Amino acid sequence: MPIRRRETEIKPETALAELTGIGRAGLTALRDLGLTTVGDLAFHIPYRYDDFLATTPIAEIEPGGNVTVIASVVRVSGRRSFRRRLAMTEAIVTDGKDEIGVIWFNQPYLAKSLRQGMTYRFAGKASRTKYGIRLVNPLVERADAEANAGGYLRPLMPVYPTTRGLSQHAMRKLVRRFETLLRSWPDPMPDAVRESRHLIPLSKALIGIHFPESWPQEKAARRRLAFDELLRIQLAVAKLREIREQGNAPEVPFDEAGVKSFVKSLPFILTDDQKKAAWTAIRDMERRLPMNRLLDGDVGSGKTAVAAIAMANAAAAGFQSALMAPTEILAHQHFHTLTRLFADRKERIALWTNSYKLSSVGGREIDHHGRSATRELNAAIASGEADIVIGTHALIEAGVDFRALGLAVVDEQHRFGVRARRLITEKSGLEGLTPHLLSMTATPIPRSLALTIFGDLDLSLLKQKPAGRLPIRTEVGFDDAGRVRAYAHVRAEAAAGRQTFVVCPLIDPSDKLGAASVTELAERLKTQELAGIEVGVLHGRLKADAKESIMRDFVEGRLPVLVATSVIEVGVDVSNATVMVIEGAERFGLAQLHQFRGRVGRGAHAARCFLLPGSTGDAEEVARRLKEFARTDDGFALAELDLKMRGPGEILGERQSGFPALKAAVLTDLPLLAEAKAVASEIVGVLDAPKNTALKKYLTVEVREVHLE
Ligand code: ADP
Ligand code: MG
Repeated sequence: MPIRRRETEIKPETALAELTGIGRAGLTALRDLGLTTVGDLAFHIPYRYDDFLATTPIAEIEPGGNVTVIASVVRVSGRRSFRRRLAMTEAIVTDGKDEIGVIWFNQPYLAKSLRQGMTYRFAGKASRTKYGIRLVNPLVERADAEANAGGYLRPLMPVYPTTRGLSQHAMRKLVRRFETLLRSWPDPMPDAVRESRHLIPLSKALIGIHFPESWPQEKAARRRLAFDELLRIQLAVAKLREIREQGNAPEVPFDEAGVKSFVKSLPFILTDDQKKAAWTAIRDMERRLPMNRLLDGDVGSGKTAVAAIAMANAAAAGFQSALMAPTEILAHQHFHTLTRLFADRKERIALWTNSYKLSSVGGREIDHHGRSATRELNAAIASGEADIVIGTHALIEAGVDFRALGLAVVDEQHRFGVRARRLITEKSGLEGLTPHLLSMTATPIPRSLALTIFGDLDLSLLKQKPAGRLPIRTEVGFDDAGRVRAYAHVRAEAAAGRQTFVVCPLIDPSDKLGAASVTELAERLKTQELAGIEVGVLHGRLKADAKESIMRDFVEGRLPVLVATSVIEVGVDVSNATVMVIEGAERFGLAQLHQFRGRVGRGAHAARCFLLPGSTGDAEEVARRLKEFARTDDGFALAELDLKMRGPGEILGERQSGFPALKAAVLTDLPLLAEAKAVASEIVGVLDAPKNTALKKYLTVEVREVHLE
C-alpha cells in the first residue's frame, strides 16, 4: 500500500498535512486544536480514559451506576418510535449466565453493525425502565479475540480533546499510526536528571499516555509529562525573575501621615483586604526592585481605591502615576471615580484618550477640548503637574511624555502586552528606571495556581466585599420553561427602564470573533423572545469605534438589551443593568460565569442572573456544575472548583495565553512542583551549552505574559 511507504518517513516535525489519509476537514479540525505536526499530536494527550478494565457480571448490575459489561449479542433489532420520530436500536446481550436489555437512541447504524453471537464491551449507564434494568446508550466496542489482535481496542480507551469535524474514533486511529515512532521517541533529558527524579523515559511516557494497559502505567507516563511541563514553566519564571532583578525602580518613600489623611477622606471605610493590599504595595515601592504586584479581586471588590492610595503616596513623593485601561469607556469611568476619591485633595488628575481629554483638581473637571487645550494637557503631563494620568493604548502610542512616572497601574492586565509596557517605561522620564507596576484583574486566580504559574509574582487578593452589596439571585433554566421565564424577566425589567446583558457563546470554532453567533442570537431575540425591544450587538468583528459607541449607548441607558460575545469583556460599571442572561452556560468555566454575573447588581436595584445551558453532552454533570455555581457567590471558591473540575485552562482562558497550556500537570501536585523547581535551578546554568541544544529546545517556552516581566 502506498501509505506504508510514506509512514516510514514520518518524523516528529513532519507536517500532518503531508500525511496521506487525512482529509481537508480533518486537517482544519486538527489546526483548530493547535495541531500541525506529528510532534504536536504526540503531545496531544488524552484528558481521560474509558475504563474497560473493570467489568461487572450482569447479575450484579444496579440501576443508576456506570458499568462495563462484556457480553455477546443474543439478538438485535432497530425500529423507529413513531411519536418521537426517534431511531431506536434494541439488543439483548448475555455474559453466559444472565441477560440484559440494551437500548440506543438515534444510532440506527448499530442495528446493522452489531452481530449476533459476537462479543462486545458495553460501557454506560444502567437505568431502571418499565421493562426492567437496561443499559441505555452505552459505548460499544468489539471485545472478541480478533478485535484485540487488531490492537485497536484498549483496556483504557483514550478520550482526546477534539473538535467538530474530527471524531474521537478518527483521533484515536490517527494517533495509533504513530505508535512505532512514539516507541523510539528521543528523550533530550539527561539520564542522570531523569533517574534522580524517578521519571520514565519520554518514549515510554508517550506510549503509556496514549496506549496504557493499566492505571499504574498511565500514572507513570502522566507524571513524566507533567514534570516536563512544570519544568518548562519554572525555567521561564527563573528567566523572567532574572530580567526583573536587573531593572531598577525609583524608591518611593512611604508618606504615612499623607496616606492616613487620604484614607480618612475617602467616602467609605476600607475593607481589611483593601488596607492590606494598599499597605503592601506602598511597601513594595520603597524598594529599588521594581514592584510587580497583581491585585486580584472580584468585580466590585474595590481595586480602584487600592490603586488610588498607592497613587496618592507616589504623588506625595513627587512621582506621577499612570492608570491604563483597556477601553475608553473604562478609562472615562476611572476618571470619574478618581475625581470623586480625590475631591478633597490637591492632586491633578488627567484623562487622555482619543475621544476624551479631561482633567480635574479638587473634584472640578476641566474639558481640554480643541487643539491648544490638548497641548496644554500634554504639557501638564510632561511637566509633572498632572499627578495621575488615566489613559488607553492611545496614550502610549501617541508617545505622551511624563516627567517622573513612578507607578504604572494596569486595569485588566491581560489586555496589555509587553510592547506597551516597554513604551511606557521609555516615556517615564526617569532615566534608566522602570516604573513600579500594579496590575489589577477580576479573574479570580487560586493561590495554588498563581504560585505555580507566576512563580515569584506578588499577589494581593481582595476577598471581602465592600459593605452593602445586594446578592444576585442566580437561576438555571434547564428547559424551555426556564428560558421563557428568563426572557419574561428581561421584558419586565426593560419595561421598568432597566437593562440586560446577554452573553452568547461561540458556537462554531471558525467564528472566532463571534460575529455569526451574536448576530444570529440577536436576530432571534428581536423576532421572538424580545420582539419590540431594541437589542444591540457587540462582537469582535466590529471596529473599535463602533464597539465604543454601542457600549456608550448601553452605559448611558439608551439601549435596553445588549448581546455580546464572552470575549468582549464587558468590564464597565452599568448600575442600571439588572439582568445577566448567559446562553450556552455549560460552555463556560465557573470563574468566567462569575465574572459575567458580576457585571450586574452594581446599583440600587436587585439583580438576577439566568444560566441557559444549550444542548449538552453530559446533562447531569452540567446540572451539577451550574447548580453549584448558583449556590456560590465567592469567585475564588469557584475558581478552585474550576481548577479541580476542568483544569487551569478554564481560569487563565485564552486571553491569558502566553502560558503554555498544561495538559498533564496538576497544579496542586506540590511535591512534583518542588522537584521541577529544584531541577530548574540545577540545569538553568548549563542549558546554553552546545551539547544541550535539544534539551533547551524541548524546555524553552516563550512566556509572553506581562506581569512576569
Ligand atoms: P473593582 O474592583 O471592580 O474595580 P471598583 O474599584 O470599581 O471595583 O469599586 C466598585 C465600587 O465600590 C466603587 O463605586 C467604589 O467607590 C466602591 N467601593 C470601593 N471600596 C469600597 C468600600 N470599602 N466600601 C464601600 N464602597 C467601596
Ligand atoms: Mg475595576
